[in-house]
Amino acid sequence: MLAAVSASERGCNVTLLEKNEKLGKKLFITGKGRCNITNSADKDLLMKNIISNPKFLFSALDAFDNKDICDLLEKHGCRIKEERGGRIFPVSDRSSDVIKALSDALKEKNVDVKLGAEVKKITANEYGFEVILSSGKKLSASAVIIATGGVSYAATGSTGDGYRFAETFGHTCVETKPSLVPLVIKQTWCRDLQGLSLKNTGLKMYSGKKMIYEDFGEMLFTHFGVSGPMILSASRYFYNKKDNDCRIVLDLKPALSEDELDARLIREFDENHEKHFINVLPNLLPAKLVPVMAFLSGIDPHKKCGDITKEERRNLVTLLKNLEMDVVGTRGFEEAIITKGGINVKEISPKTMMSKIVPGLFFAGEVTDLDALTGGFNLQIAWSTGFVAGESAAEYVTNGGDL
Ligand SMILES: Cc1cc2nc3c(=O)[nH]c(=O)nc-3n(C[C@H](O)[C@H](O)[C@H](O)COP(=O)(O)OP(=O)(O)OC[C@H]3O[C@@H](n4cnc5c(N)ncnc54)[C@H](O)[C@@H]3O)c2cc1C
Repeated sequence: MLAAVSASERGCNVTLLEKNEKLGKKLFITGKGRCNITNSADKDLLMKNIISNPKFLFSALDAFDNKDICDLLEKHGCRIKEERGGRIFPVSDRSSDVIKALSDALKEKNVDVKLGAEVKKITANEYGFEVILSSGKKLSASAVIIATGGVSYAATGSTGDGYRFAETFGHTCVETKPSLVPLVIKQTWCRDLQGLSLKNTGLKMYSGKKMIYEDFGEMLFTHFGVSGPMILSASRYFYNKKDNDCRIVLDLKPALSEDELDARLIREFDENHEKHFINVLPNLLPAKLVPVMAFLSGIDPHKKCGDITKEERRNLVTLLKNLEMDVVGTRGFEEAIITKGGINVKEISPKTMMSKIVPGLFFAGEVTDLDALTGGFNLQIAWSTGFVAGESAAEYVTNGGDL
């Protein structure tokens, strides 16, 4: 949508082909229906949150950044606001307002929007390209922008068609993997915690002995393992592991040092020295965690607190500060916020988003091998690359095939 607006702004006749019956089906479900449009971070921080090929995005972010998308949306009636962590949302909290603003921009620029128009094949000919729809209809174009998204949440229309189109032109794709996705945990006790949500929890992810990610925030236990904002971000680093030994370690008491937590336990056990250990743990932990932590601590649940040894107490401190889980995999694409991998950016010019293999063929958005953490950064990738692809495609057409 943004590529079409950007190309038509420069005087080109633009046709937008969307296979769904409406525009922005994925955009509609972003940010739990609120659409985290972008992030107010400065360029350095934006780049830090882009995990695959951040340097490739340098020019695109220069050409069209977070302020530019906010201005464009506001100009078309979608007022925006900033929330925690620089996250930008529509004031209305409705993603439909972002889609409406983009649709209005498309109308204003006279873009020919064809819905229910599934592209089956794209071929090059002497005039440029022939685009064949599943209805059998054929269209001619001097330039084509492929912005078909990745393969996650396929029901929204992103089924990987763009990779196939690109491959027929000789492009290669970096292997696709589900990312920003829940993690599957080996330990069966994890399943007993299903439904438990933790706030203010520390997380470290290790590949062998090496720490590959650290965060602090919210998470959720599920019937297969763990999910929630902090876990989704950590999942991107699962692919940075060097071997099959990937662990996450939770700090359930991040506000206390080990010594402070030990002092707290001493006080708790002293005040309740006649009570059973299992009946005192709820003073320290959410109810659902109590039986699991009692089991993992190895302390007899019916031992009187006054009889707990120093060694048992110190082990409990270590457990509360270092709850270990083995990550055995991720959930699938149907639960992944984004697709890691895609069209190899080495084969695309970062300044124009044009293919280095086929002149006149452009790429934008998640179909490329670019991905970021949560916080509005993935949409910013789509906005920036979409803008540049549109602008450059228009220049290519206007200059008769020169860029
Ligand atoms: C649940 C969820 C929540 C998310 N929340 C956020 C968020 O809040 N903030 C954020 O920054 N990112 C978020 N993302 C990620 C973000 O939505 C994507 O990175 C972004 O939509 C990618 O944009 P795109 O235009 O490249 O692809 P898409 O949005 O996937 O659009 C591609 C379009 O191409 C169409 N298409 C595909 N193949 C064909 C074909 N053969 N013919 C015609 N049309 C075709 C599809 O139907 C689709 O409409 C979220 C993703 C999900 C799944």
